[in-house]
Amino acid sequence: MLINTTAPLVQQLNERKIQSIVITTHHKPDGDAMGSTLGLWGFLREFVEDVVVCTPTDYSENLFWLPGNERVLDFEKDPELVANKIANADVIFCLDFNRLSRINQLGHLVRVARAEKVMIDHHLEPEEFAHYTYWNHEASSTCELVYQWIASQFGANHVSPSIATCLYTGLMTDTGNFQHNNTTPVTLRLAADLMEHGADHLVIHANIYDVFSLDRSRLFGYSLYKKLEIIPECKTALIYLDRDELRKFNVQTGDTEGLVNFGLGLKDIVLSVLIIDRTERVKMSFRSKGDFPANELASKYFEGGGHRNAAGGQSTDTLEATVAKFKKVVWEYRNQLLAI
Ligand code: 5GP
Ligand code: MN
Repeated sequence: MLINTTAPLVQQLNERKIQSIVITTHHKPDGDAMGSTLGLWGFLREFVEDVVVCTPTDYSENLFWLPGNERVLDFEKDPELVANKIANADVIFCLDFNRLSRINQLGHLVRVARAEKVMIDHHLEPEEFAHYTYWNHEASSTCELVYQWIASQFGANHVSPSIATCLYTGLMTDTGNFQHNNTTPVTLRLAADLMEHGADHLVIHANIYDVFSLDRSRLFGYSLYKKLEIIPECKTALIYLDRDELRKFNVQTGDTEGLVNFGLGLKDIVLSVLIIDRTERVKMSFRSKGDFPANELASKYFEGGGHRNAAGGQSTDTLEATVAKFKKVVWEYRNQLLAI
């Protein structure tokens, strides 16, 4: 846990001394990234007129219903406007990531910006680039940390139903519906608090999970029926998808989220990996059970990282070469995998 005081920032906000704020988050933002940025955005609007959420890329359509989404700026769509906002901001909040390399070209713009930077995050090994760091890798989600910051520094009465809705979304998605080992008593109490502040868990759940396209469901069926491979000697499950397959199922941003969990749901499987050819690079998702450190494998061999049981990585090799490399290196972890 690394939480240094934000007292000077809180004072400046309370005294209305801050004119402009940018809130940003990681590449291909997920439910926690968008929930935390839009929750914080809803809160900061009370204190600052010019506050804007800027994402490095697009994100899944099942997050578009979040309150405030219509005001989000996407750097890929509006690079000049976003660069301008970042250069002129007094304060930049960096949410749900802790290395500037995670936000592509935005990272450089944020690094050189004159603004004071605030990091609110729960991933391992934070880089020191922020003036204020509100970091706890034991927090379930960045939404949990945003709520704690607002409640402890300003009072939970500032949490409106819209803010509660955004924050509950990140809590729910980052814990896999309160089932992963990052779900703590604190998380569940917070979920209850957010319901009392107006988050409707049924509506949120339906908006996130009951909106998939037929193509996406068929992609899941195809992947499980035709593409799932098992390496029993290493208790590992693997799915990889090439560009033709992605095209065939009209895969949109966010459509492959959750697919990697099916491999992990198998009895006797400890590590599941999904490898996707995303044209500009090959993207990997890792999930593991027990103590197996998926983030170590991701960081040692695939320029990645994340949490012990949920990590990601990438490769600039071809899909075939990346799959071959994975199938080779996983044997190095055989003993660790078999021990679980
Ligand atoms: P996902 O598989 O859902 O994309 O990512 C799982 C976890 O790994 C997330 O917590 C995410 O932040 C982290 N992660 C995903 N891709 C990368 C990456 O390229 N580098 C690092 N350091 N972490 C990643
Ligand atoms: Mn998160």
